[in-house]
Amino acid sequence: MKENKMSITINAVSENIPVVRVAVTSFISNLEITLDELMEIKTAVSEALTNAIEHGYTKYSGDNPVVILNAKFTSDEEDHVEIEVIDYGVGIEDIELATTPAYTSKPELEHAGMGFTIMESFMDEIIIDSEKDSGTKITLKKKLRNKKSKMS
Ligand code: ATP
Ligand code: MG
Repeated sequence: MKENKMSITINAVSENIPVVRVAVTSFISNLEITLDELMEIKTAVSEALTNAIEHGYTKYSGDNPVVILNAKFTSDEEDHVEIEVIDYGVGIEDIELATTPAYTSKPELEHAGMGFTIMESFMDEIIIDSEKDSGTKITLKKKLRNKKSKMS
């Protein structure tokens, strides 16, 4: 069993999005991964990160808005990538509504409401833990297809 981890804390400002994207890309590009998988993980992480920064701290009255990204790679018979994106902001009141394709709470800012739909289609699993006024944790999981399963 092999394992590798990375943890990054950033201020919740959009200038930091490309910084984290580069770090995540670099972290996963060391793996036995296809270009498609790399692109899919990168895109899903960007959507979660953009949400944490652009929605997490809207109407937030606390100080020190930060976003944490935890990335983990595990390998035994299968290779798995798991990424958590955490904010301590306003939380998502209605998760079902938020994950409805084309729903956005900020239509005036040219959001398409497609972030969660993209995360769901590019990852194997997405777990949304959110609580009003305490924040949101998005967990994104993907099994890499580089190894054949034992049965095949
Ligand atoms: P797009 O991603 O296409 O730019 P969007 O961000 O509005 O548009 P989604 O990413 O699908 O669409 O998110 C849907 C809604 O869920 C958002 O409009 C917002 O109201 C809410 N939301 C998402 N992430 C968070 C978060 N971290 N904290 C609070 N609210 C969130
Ligand atoms: Mg979004």
